[in-house]
Amino acid sequence: MRSISILGSTGSVGRSTLAVVDAFPDELRVVGLAAGGNVELLAEQVRRYRPELVSVRSGDDVARLRALLREPVEIVPGMDGACAVASLASADAVIAAIVGAAGIAPVHAALRAGKRVGIANKEVLVAAGDVMTRAARDHGGEILPVDSEHNAVHQALRCGTHAEVARIILTASGGPFLRRDLATFGEITIEAALAHPTWTMGSKISIDSATMMNKGLEVIEAHHLFSLPADQIDILIHPQSIVHSMVEYVDGSIIAQLSTTDMKFPIQYALLYPERVTAPFAKLDLARIRTLDFLPVEPERFPAVQLAYAALRAGGSAPAVLNAANEIAVERFLAGELPFSSIVDITSRVLEKHAGKVSSIDSVEDALRWDEWARNEARGIDVAECGVRS
Ligand code: NDP
Repeated sequence: MRSISILGSTGSVGRSTLAVVDAFPDELRVVGLAAGGNVELLAEQVRRYRPELVSVRSGDDVARLRALLREPVEIVPGMDGACAVASLASADAVIAAIVGAAGIAPVHAALRAGKRVGIANKEVLVAAGDVMTRAARDHGGEILPVDSEHNAVHQALRCGTHAEVARIILTASGGPFLRRDLATFGEITIEAALAHPTWTMGSKISIDSATMMNKGLEVIEAHHLFSLPADQIDILIHPQSIVHSMVEYVDGSIIAQLSTTDMKFPIQYALLYPERVTAPFAKLDLARIRTLDFLPVEPERFPAVQLAYAALRAGGSAPAVLNAANEIAVERFLAGELPFSSIVDITSRVLEKHAGKVSSIDSVEDALRWDEWARNEARGIDVAECGVRS
């Protein structure tokens, strides 16, 4: 039996993680849950899974949750609370599924406590990848990818050595605007940008998928997870989202991982690795799917991808700045403050301001300092300054 804590239990990945727990009642049990402000759903989860420790975003949320519960569970607020859930002594593994840079401190706490961390929260590795991999190495922690692409690469890497890898190929669905007329990008609505064609996800990652910043962040995530330079990480559009990613070896063989578009697969893999267990989830029917398409990325359609490669090559604080500026730009788009095309524009402008200021990220504090700097810059950019594609 493995005991797990879930960071972001009320979100899309958090709920899928609980569905995996339901599917493996003899192998998995929940000891810690961390969420933000959705106390109604969290209360249901507490009643059902009976964790030892729960955290919520604020003191007000503690009071609201307490009012909904008769169970005598310990509830702690804020970032310290999330870190306490992440490093809970009884947890063997942690699923990191908070969205954005808010996951940095809790993931670090989990790794410093020597936990296995199944990481969906890619922004943590983008902003502070070196700090996280060092914490894992120094404290006996382990990072296993839950992001489906990286999980696929992790599986495909079991076929060869690091020296035998020529490159990895991250697949991307291309999101809702893969075939949209570029001349109409200025008219994209929030609803259209949220409507992902193959995955059902939280709003931030759905917008990141529409701009393809998500894939850019994944390139940086892959660099940290697999110790590969930017030149050995490629992207291929694959609209069906069936091949989750591939590894090409030096002899020309390509090993791919395929499954249905269901996050329960990578979550289950990360929690039960290195074992493979019989899963009760819907299996792939390739005879029904019949066709798998692959296309190159169009740079003018998805400028976010090149921006992310540039940040990775600049190194140091650049990826943390890219990530934070993008988070604010997405937040502003979702608040109706700016057009879709301005998301990448704002991120690019903040990165330009940061050029010449790049410095190393040696601690969580360094990452959070640059995160805050970039957030303030991105908030301060007037929409009128941004170019709208037309
Ligand atoms: P959601 O928006 O659905 O969920 C986010 C979760 O984070 C919620 O539980 C939310 O709590 C919690 N949260 C947000 N801010 C805080 C905070 N300050 N403190 C504590 N908890 C907080 O996101 P997703 O599940 O879609 O994505 C989570 C992460 O996983 C992202 O980094 C995403 O990129 C990545 N990912 C997601 C995939 C997917 O299929 N959804 C696939 C691959 C990666 P509450 O709702 O209670 O406020």
